[in-house]
Amino acid sequence: MEDCLFCKIADGRIPGALVYQDQDVVAFADINPQAPQHVLFIPRRHIPSMADLTPEDSGLLGKLFAAAAHVASDLGLADPERGYRFVTNVGPGAGQSVQHLHFHLLGGRRFSWPPG
Ligand code: AMP
Ligand code: ZN
Repeated sequence: MEDCLFCKIADGRIPGALVYQDQDVVAFADINPQAPQHVLFIPRRHIPSMADLTPEDSGLLGKLFAAAAHVASDLGLADPERGYRFVTNVGPGAGQSVQHLHFHLLGGRRFSWPPG
């Protein structure tokens, strides 16, 4: 999409600190990290949010989750004693500020449950 921040990062129009990319998925460091490790995972294709997913997107989601698990492992977070969180916000009421589907990979500190 022409005016979407994350589409621009995915196709290189805006620089991002990329940590992973393949044909369908891009991952880059969050500009305002909420944990020592904070990486965003997005599909290259513009999808506004999780609410817009269809069963046809199942393969894409599998790739996205597998890429995140791979990066988490590379970051040393796979040890269950450390662990990580992988979350998406849907709608401004839940904290979504960028209208391009993204998952937050957060690690390197303790997380409370339930989330605040
Ligand atoms: P959300 O609030 O769930 O929509 O998450 C959007 C995230 O995008 C926030 O954590 C922001 O810090 C992050 N963000 C905004 N602009 C950029 C950017 N140019 N590069 C990297 N991360 C960004
Ligand atoms: Zn987009």
